[in-house]
Amino acid sequence: MPNAYNIAVLKGDGIGPEVTEAAIKVLNAVQDASKNLKLNFLYGEAGYHCIAQHGTNLPEETIALLKQTHACLKGPMTTPEEPGAPVSAAVQIRTMFNLYANIRPCRTFPNVEALKPNIDLIVVRENTEGMYSGAEFELAPGIGVALRIITKEASTRIAEFAFKLAAKRKKHLTYVHKGNILRITDGIFKDAVKEASLKHPSITLDDLHIDAATMQLIKRPESFDVIVTTNLFGDILSDEAAQVTGSLGLAAGANIGETYGMFEPVHGSAPKYKGQNRVNPIATIMAASMMLDYLGEKEAAAKIEKAVMQVLKEGKVRTADLGGSSTTNEMSGAIAAKIKAL
Ligand code: NAD
Repeated sequence: MPNAYNIAVLKGDGIGPEVTEAAIKVLNAVQDASKNLKLNFLYGEAGYHCIAQHGTNLPEETIALLKQTHACLKGPMTTPEEPGAPVSAAVQIRTMFNLYANIRPCRTFPNVEALKPNIDLIVVRENTEGMYSGAEFELAPGIGVALRIITKEASTRIAEFAFKLAAKRKKHLTYVHKGNILRITDGIFKDAVKEASLKHPSITLDDLHIDAATMQLIKRPESFDVIVTTNLFGDILSDEAAQVTGSLGLAAGANIGETYGMFEPVHGSAPKYKGQNRVNPIATIMAASMMLDYLGEKEAAAKIEKAVMQVLKEGKVRTADLGGSSTTNEMSGAIAAKIKAL
């Protein structure tokens, strides 16, 4: 009997459908090449385009569908920005399923120009609170307030996750905060990391303010291993790290909780490129690889990664962000073909 998984697929907005279909093509290639993997894709609607019809970007039917699945592959979605509009669908899913750890690996890829060689770092971002708590209001006309909620419980949980991840890698953890200004909220975060460090004496722990971290990420990106930080700082640092290693089009992310995982590209819906078949699908393809790894399908996950690396190394198929003129379909086709040939 093959290992069978129900996978929720939310294609999203803008370039979302193109990059998600590209990842499904690659997942189908892995499935075809494997005797014991069965992926049952369940398609759901979510994102900006749903609002007109459903009044929400995350319809009830989609929530019910997510609950029937082992994991979700999510395309990027356009976030409504009007006051009173629904909260980002990604943020709703992260909160609803308590996907507290956002894992965003960044490393140099073969044949892709990066700021420095040999970058291999992972940003671990707290995913459920901080500036994304959604508690924002106008105190008086022209005076807005956003609540940055930081708890000891969530900080300890993400610190533990980061220490365990660092233990499997280069055993070096950097925690990033703004404790000199945000003394109470980041004080709680800092104390939680320091307390967790007592249980992980083999991990070297470094402390950086967010402003210094953004600078050091450009100056010496190769010196980082695992970075742990709060929600907004992690979002910004991971986009920066993605560009330092070459392109946002290559960066994948996992949102992991105790019982569920959602996998997506780091980038957004890039509406100006919608339907042009020109963006890089690798971020979403690598997200699919992270999903298989999360499901315990290590061999299948490694196969996708190997195929991506080989296609990039050969350098014949390159999308515009990598300086080439290949299409989204050509890139996913080349990766799928490589999987079959491995
Ligand atoms: P974006 O990531 O969509 O695009 C920024 C730029 O990055 C693009 O113009 C493009 O030059 C480049 N880029 C992005 N993806 C690429 C790819 N696959 N290949 C090549 N180049 C790529 O950021 P934005 O323009 O700030 O946001 C657009 C929308 O997406 C907004 O509504 C935003 O809120 C939303 N967003 C959603 C998510 C999510 O669903 N998790 C994440 C980030 C942004």
